[in-house]
Amino acid sequence: MNAKRVLLTGGAGFIGSHLTGELLKLGHQVTVLDNLSSGRLENIQEFEGCESFRFIKHDVSEPFCEDFDWIFNLACPASPDAYQTDPIQTTKTSMLGAFNMLGLAKRCGARLLQASTSEVYGDPKVHPQVESYWGNVNPVGVRSCYDEGKRVAETLCNDYRRQNGVDTKIIRIFNTYGPRMRVNDGRVVSNFIVQALQDKDITVYGDGSQTRSFCYVKDLVRGILAMMTKDSFPGPVNLGNPGEYKVRDLAEIIIKMTNSKSRIINLPLPSDDPTVRRPDISLAKKELHWEPKIDLNEGLLLTIAYFDKELTKRVIK
Ligand code: UDP
Repeated sequence: MNAKRVLLTGGAGFIGSHLTGELLKLGHQVTVLDNLSSGRLENIQEFEGCESFRFIKHDVSEPFCEDFDWIFNLACPASPDAYQTDPIQTTKTSMLGAFNMLGLAKRCGARLLQASTSEVYGDPKVHPQVESYWGNVNPVGVRSCYDEGKRVAETLCNDYRRQNGVDTKIIRIFNTYGPRMRVNDGRVVSNFIVQALQDKDITVYGDGSQTRSFCYVKDLVRGILAMMTKDSFPGPVNLGNPGEYKVRDLAEIIIKMTNSKSRIINLPLPSDDPTVRRPDISLAKKELHWEPKIDLNEGLLLTIAYFDKELTKRVIK
């Protein structure tokens, strides 16, 4: 493959930094834009000094102008805790970020991949979720800033495609976990592992009967690259692991794997928390020949080892 000039927004984040690493391994020139609101410099530290890597602290809600071949628009806090801290900025990031990146793609003729989310399905009435399902999203709730922001980003991609011929691609990312998540990220996998490793109470929201499907980050990154390199397929396409678990079962699994003394406690369920979520990945299998390879057990072992190290670093400091 020819080396591409790549712009990656959100490249210092959890998923973005793994994608940065793969792109550099493949020989591409990578420019990371990140405002470091939820991304961290330590995620990209290992790439500093690499000639084909560049980091620019920049907020994607402001325009950015330079020539690129590929644009990956990943910038946006993704943990409910993080995206609800400043919901107006969250909507700005998704909406204005998409405007700015699509405008840039139009000007320089770049292919643009937009990171969307399973949250566009809201609290789904179709299960598992297929791409043709339009979703069941509350437009005025506490999650709307993220859900509707990403829905607008999808709308903009398709309008820039139809109106301006921009080569856009949409991926809908389902729950993802793995190394480089923040200890205080707030999402379920990181919370439970960090609590279990410290023998603290495991905080199950509601009765824990709600389900999620968890994809290991390396699998996801393979899917993102498969989508970017596939011609004539704008998506949207679901990228996620179809293995579905109740949240309370996830808590039990993590307690067992970490040999923890933690107890499970139940806290109130946040509003609009989806009751079920599982991707139908038939389209990704057919078009991208992609499916996850790392099951929950294997992925959790790697993630537990990572958090164990992170917590030890904190104690030593
Ligand atoms: N959750 C939980 N305890 C936690 C964090 C999350 O029970 O400490 C639940 C949350 O209510 C949701 C599921 O786990 O039902 C996944 O939450 P997460 O924040 O990881 O992502 P979401 O899929 O809701 O965006």
